[in-house]
Amino acid sequence: MRIIRINHLGTPRWAILKDDEHYCLMFGDIHRLPPDIDARPHRLDPSRLLAPCLPTKVVAVGLNYKDHVKEMGHETPEEPVLFLKPPSSVIGPGSNILLPPQSRRVDHEAELAVVLKRKLHRAAREEAAAAVWGFTCLNDVTARDLQKKDGQWARAKGFDTFCPVGPWIDTEFKEADQAITCRVNGEVRQKSSLGQRIWDTADLLAFASQAMTLEPGDVLTTGTSGGIGPLAPGDKVEVEVEGLGVLANGVVAL
Ligand code: MG
Repeated sequence: MRIIRINHLGTPRWAILKDDEHYCLMFGDIHRLPPDIDARPHRLDPSRLLAPCLPTKVVAVGLNYKDHVKEMGHETPEEPVLFLKPPSSVIGPGSNILLPPQSRRVDHEAELAVVLKRKLHRAAREEAAAAVWGFTCLNDVTARDLQKKDGQWARAKGFDTFCPVGPWIDTEFKEADQAITCRVNGEVRQKSSLGQRIWDTADLLAFASQAMTLEPGDVLTTGTSGGIGPLAPGDKVEVEVEGLGVLANGVVAL
């Protein structure tokens, strides 16, 4: 099942996507499946898609692909290196990434992300896996110069629009060794495999939940591969996970 949020007649609505039509949630909690949906289909207008999540936090991992650890000149970490992106950084498919004047180098980071359907607190791996609502694509946009300058990553990773998510949540996606790709203006910049990751989603959720309670709707993103690179005004950046979908965003100078 593919779950979207959409601007439906001027109001944000949760909906189920089937082929090129969507069915809006009538009432109840979208996190409880199967949802109560309107039987009337509406033709999908991709320009109306919103981010398919309303997280209280986005938990991210710094170094989780062997090729990215190497290009950043780090040793393989013994434990996941976690950081947070604020909910205010989240945007949906088709929205523009705004390049802030404080940074001279803003990079794309193509990632596989997961959205939770249940609360997690000090969970074991099996409980963490069972709390997954579904998977989506995420771009962990990063002001690389400010990341180095600040030491702390909150500003570099936390600007408004620095967390594109979408285009939908796929509740049936099974992570294995699918390809993950980032294209800028059609040119491949990052290409790797989910099998390159050091820790998988259940590992990361269980680890994060030892420190902080994860809420339904929270997002955990599982790191980026090698090939990170800069974005410029006018670019179109796409994150694609094989079998999951393509998240596309424009880039403009603020
Ligand atoms: Mg990242």
